[in-house]
Amino acid sequence: MYAYIGIGSNLGNRLENINKAIELLRKNHGIKIKKVSSIIETKPVGGPTQENFLNGVIKIKTDLEPMSLLLILQNIEKKLGRVRMIKNGPRSIDLDILLYDNQKINAPGLKIPHPRMLEREFVMKPLLEIESDILSKI
Ligand code: ADP
Ligand code: MG
Repeated sequence: MYAYIGIGSNLGNRLENINKAIELLRKNHGIKIKKVSSIIETKPVGGPTQENFLNGVIKIKTDLEPMSLLLILQNIEKKLGRVRMIKNGPRSIDLDILLYDNQKINAPGLKIPHPRMLEREFVMKPLLEIESDILSKI
């Protein structure tokens, strides 16, 4: 199955955080990285006044269940020092599942497609860069 992961950072060495997260994903035997978008600088949306983000999107191939994939992403967030403090606040790394195959999931801890992706330019710009016809598939 193909899935798209949104990646973001606005705390510490942002590019290093993003590159480390991609390396950790690459090391996982259940995940094959197929494409990595350009990493773009974006203004924060919502939350407190905070630094700009770096954002990108990664296309992966995996047979992991969506919930297992989420746990792996959350582990990588923990490894890279993410501490959850304020909602929508600064974070060293954020990894979100944007799309997973054409599955729709509405569990309390996992919503796919990511509910706010279509309105977020910092998601859609890198997503359309790597998959220009994605809107016709969702
Ligand atoms: P956000 O990414 O919305 O800024 P967090 O990264 O702190 O916020 O995630 C909050 C919760 O969102 C997580 O505990 C996770 O269970 C839930 N969640 C729901 N759907 C998804 C998804 N598609 N990808 C990642 N997390 C999700
Ligand atoms: Mg998140």
